[in-house]
Amino acid sequence: MAALLACGLGFTSGAQVAADQSAREVESAKEVDAGVDPTIKPGDDFFSYANGAWLKATQIPAGKERWTAGSEITELTRQQTLKLLDDAPAAPAGSIARKVADFRAAYLNDGAIEANGIALIKPMLDRIARVRDKAALTRLLGTGLKADVDPMNNGIFASKHVLGLATQASIHGEKTYVAFLVQGGLGLPDREHYVSSDPAMQVLRTRYQEAIGSVLTLAAPGVASDSASASSSRAEAVMALETAIAQSHATAEVSGNEKNADNLWTRADFARNAPGMDWSAFFAAAGLARQPTFVAWQPSAVTGLAALVESQPLQVWKDYLRVRVIADYADVLPRAFRDQAPALRGAAPASPEAGPPLSSRAQRANEATQSAMGEAVARLYVERYFPAANKARLQSIAANVRAAFARRVEAVTWMSPESKAVALGKLKVLYLGVAYPETWRDYADLVVDPADAAGNLRRIGERNYRQTLARLGKRVDNAEWSSDPKVVGGLLMFQQNSLNLTAALLQVPKFDPAASDALNYGAIGAIIGHEMSHFVDPLGAEYEVDGQARRWWTAEDISRYGAVNAPLVNQFSGYRPFPDLAVNGKQTLSENIADLGGLAAAFDAYRATLGSKAADKEYVRQQDRQFFIGFARAWRSLYRDDGLRKFVATNDHAPERYRVATVRNIDAWYDAFDVQPGQRLYLEPAARVRIW
Ligand SMILES: [Zn+2]
Repeated sequence: MAALLACGLGFTSGAQVAADQSAREVESAKEVDAGVDPTIKPGDDFFSYANGAWLKATQIPAGKERWTAGSEITELTRQQTLKLLDDAPAAPAGSIARKVADFRAAYLNDGAIEANGIALIKPMLDRIARVRDKAALTRLLGTGLKADVDPMNNGIFASKHVLGLATQASIHGEKTYVAFLVQGGLGLPDREHYVSSDPAMQVLRTRYQEAIGSVLTLAAPGVASDSASASSSRAEAVMALETAIAQSHATAEVSGNEKNADNLWTRADFARNAPGMDWSAFFAAAGLARQPTFVAWQPSAVTGLAALVESQPLQVWKDYLRVRVIADYADVLPRAFRDQAPALRGAAPASPEAGPPLSSRAQRANEATQSAMGEAVARLYVERYFPAANKARLQSIAANVRAAFARRVEAVTWMSPESKAVALGKLKVLYLGVAYPETWRDYADLVVDPADAAGNLRRIGERNYRQTLARLGKRVDNAEWSSDPKVVGGLLMFQQNSLNLTAALLQVPKFDPAASDALNYGAIGAIIGHEMSHFVDPLGAEYEVDGQARRWWTAEDISRYGAVNAPLVNQFSGYRPFPDLAVNGKQTLSENIADLGGLAAAFDAYRATLGSKAADKEYVRQQDRQFFIGFARAWRSLYRDDGLRKFVATNDHAPERYRVATVRNIDAWYDAFDVQPGQRLYLEPAARVRIW
């Protein structure tokens, strides 16, 4: 009786689980049979056999070079999220859903936007107008610091403000969060837009400079100095200042190097390395008076900023800051400002032939809502589309794959005992984030006003900054997420020994709650194993158990690893998507090894769940088939020829059909599909590769 009641309350008994599982096995068996192409021998082309029905039924949408399982779930998630946004206005006042709805409504509330005029940004413009000297300018720059960068995890290497602040786990095993300062201050997308001689970039620059002139006039109408020629020379001066800022910026390639975390500056270093600005005043205004050190992610930009504060006329700096304020809010200011918004962010001009602009107003509102209220929307997404039972099932799959992978690490002969100890230590403490964070940010204190779009943006920006500041000195939490659960993807964070797999990723065919365990271990289990293996392979070898950037693989590990993986290089180099083009086995090696290790560990983990049923040979064979087909389904994909050529030339992964051919290295695949010598994927037992 108690068990029955418990079931009704959302708990499940052991008997119930078993019944669910066998019902799923029956369903999955039917689905697998319906999905294959029986005219193809699995041993000749497993990818086309397993995905037969999908390949026949699917077309690559117009304008796309390829269409994959990832594209399918990305599109599905986009529609799911739009539905959420459309339904949100019906939620009760004060709820998170209602705040999300109010944010979007405010963005589209033309009446309120016109009526508010520039009231919200007026105090900011007045503050700029009151700046009389460089000391006041420095304080204003400090006050404007934004928490809109993420150098360690998501590769956001530029702020909208002259510098951006992040507090993140760094790379030397620090126990507490470190303060990072990242370059910024450009209206156009990046440095190249200012310095490139590409004619398309020159067009954007001209358009940008004209927009600067327009908004300077709009912001201070009727001022005597605002004749057309005066505003155009002011715009020219602002453009020259921005170009000088851009020239001090690091290139994208330099910014992308994690070793930038080694540029740790004390407060004295700022005075010494970046003279021209009163850094104490800057940090005090930013609420960072007591912070002793910062990572200067791009030192040249910090040095450049201070020099420009000293050398450039105050009036130019003030105009520059006016433009930045207007650009930040242009989307939610009256029409005359809004019309300048695309030019102010460096969007290409709409051509009459191109049809309606790519980013309509409603679309901008949706994007702004999903970005400014990201975690709130993600929470709504998960509440509607990702039941807690799915998370529990995936955590159990992940735990079993982790254990299976650890057994494989213990068994390898090419890795030294010392390295194995580190690898096992890393696997043990690895945080495996499934679907969404363990705790959500609280939105209770956030005021969202449906008639105050600009105010909403300001309050959210200030709140982000406060939350970023509050983390300084706190202990690094490796369960902290840096992924958006409603964006399809997985994120590996070596410096905090942590992996995030988003709820959006965990959808059919990567994870199917209605499918058997076998099918899911083949699909998501192999993906989990793949990602896990990166923590102990040459990528993860650069980071210790505590997240410290220090290589723990020995020279001997590296050379033995090279010897065991040589046959896999050859295996992949033998695949020819076109007669004149082969897969590059070296370029794709790291990912192919991860696929192989992930598939093998997931297979062990799935087999270990069979328990007493493992004695039933025919049952096991049927489940094995589901496992391998689950793997193939997770990587279903279609390419146009050009797209495939480009992918082969540039991507670190092999095209999916060859990734799926990894199965030929697993003995059980041969039995499951009766693969015989002479079939195209057949490998002699001695030629099957095992690395993990
Ligand atoms: Zn990978």
